[in-house]
Amino acid sequence: MNTYSHIVNEILAASNIVITAHKSADGDSVGSSLGLLHFIEKLGKDALVCHPDQASDFLDFLNLNRIKTMEHEADKVTTAFQKADLIFCLDYNSTERVGKSMQGMLESASCKKIMIDHHLDPQDFCDIAVSDPSASSTAELIVELIEQSGNGGLLDEQTGTPLYVGILTDTGSFRFNSVKPRTHEILAKLLAAGVQHHLLHEALNDTNTASRLRLQGFAMAEKMEILEENSVAIISLTKEELEKYDYQKGDTDSLANQALSIKGMKAAILLSEKDGIIKLSFRSKGADNPVNQLAATHFDGGGHANAAGGKSELPMPETLVKIKTLVKEFFPVK
Ligand code: 5GP
Ligand code: MN
Repeated sequence: MNTYSHIVNEILAASNIVITAHKSADGDSVGSSLGLLHFIEKLGKDALVCHPDQASDFLDFLNLNRIKTMEHEADKVTTAFQKADLIFCLDYNSTERVGKSMQGMLESASCKKIMIDHHLDPQDFCDIAVSDPSASSTAELIVELIEQSGNGGLLDEQTGTPLYVGILTDTGSFRFNSVKPRTHEILAKLLAAGVQHHLLHEALNDTNTASRLRLQGFAMAEKMEILEENSVAIISLTKEELEKYDYQKGDTDSLANQALSIKGMKAAILLSEKDGIIKLSFRSKGADNPVNQLAATHFDGGGHANAAGGKSELPMPETLVKIKTLVKEFFPVK
């Protein structure tokens, strides 16, 4: 029996299934969670999606009301963990990725845990692990679960829509190196199942707010520094600046990629002051310019070779000095 069929058997045998994903939910963690939820429902079972925190507003065209969060419904989530006899761990590779509020509950839950993920270096905390760093997204792996367990017939618009969004957002609209022929085969299956792809692109791309555009304009015009010799762009935004532009979750998500689009840039780094710390987002181009090591070694973070994140507890000016020193080391003048 293949691992995917084994996982479906675990679903069919379970009574209380909990689906988790990493903190600061993105399109892939939300998309894979909701896609798996609907698949489990199509199998005639129930599950509860429990995330550490609320997803970005830009995803609110998906059924976000099906996701309970520690941030807003701690009691429900805590009870779900206590009753759980099967926990899915989607789109993360180590327990610390669910954040402090959920990590303890996850680690102490004695039930079976199943990881489905595409990050490098998975920690060994699950009973079954589908860990495939060559996959474009966790959502792609959920489609594999549905297909390769012989349940392709259950794929419909409701299940396919969040999965399409997961693949779309984690591949920068199907353009990253992580996109393989198989990714397009899977996308074709989603369209054949009824996914209205044009509406999803519209919902993701044509729903800017005026304040988000103004914040982006300000960031680009006033707050982007280009280290020409190192081919790295750095954008920094303080709490006061974010507040001035009525920052909403998700408003800064595209900034690092936009800065990276400058011709000749090897990497772009966004520093934003959120929840009392400086959050760092790293984006880079090509196999020669990985950023996950920089994020892991110096900013208590990690991620993929060309998209990583981390944090700094130093104030913004000191964090900027630190990152500029590190940029000179990691991206030396050629
Ligand atoms: P973002 O810049 O969008 O927040 O994160 C980009 C990627 O970096 C995420 O998909 C995730 O893989 C990784 N990442 C972000 N923040 C962290 C962190 O604090 N720790 C680790 N290990 N990975 C992170
Ligand atoms: Mn992902």
